[in-house]
Amino acid sequence: MAESIIPIELKQLANDQLGIVWSDGHRSTYLVRSLRLNCRCANCVDEWTKEKRIRESEIPLDVRPKSIESVGRYALHFEWTDGHGTGYYTYDLLRQLCECEQCRSR
Ligand SMILES: [Zn+2]
Ligand SMILES: [Zn+2]
Repeated sequence: MAESIIPIELKQLANDQLGIVWSDGHRSTYLVRSLRLNCRCANCVDEWTKEKRIRESEIPLDVRPKSIESVGRYALHFEWTDGHGTGYYTYDLLRQLCECEQCRSR
């Protein structure tokens, strides 16, 4: 089994931008608001239909992570300044959402 890829460093790149350095050397960048918008928890995405239950307009433009902690060896848990705190972002999802130039050009 391949060793799983895990985040080794999290850093705030700008007020609205988060960076993750992964154990395979990949450097991800994210706009924090787009991470918030891509939350996959049951409050944000319908578990059955997979439809988004949040509207982009409902999320404050200046939403920020209040705290980020790792959950086991598979996910990060974000607490947001808009009061949302039930979202878990699996490492797989975070890699899919990566907004670095390399990933965006795919
Ligand atoms: Zn959520
Ligand atoms: Zn990337």
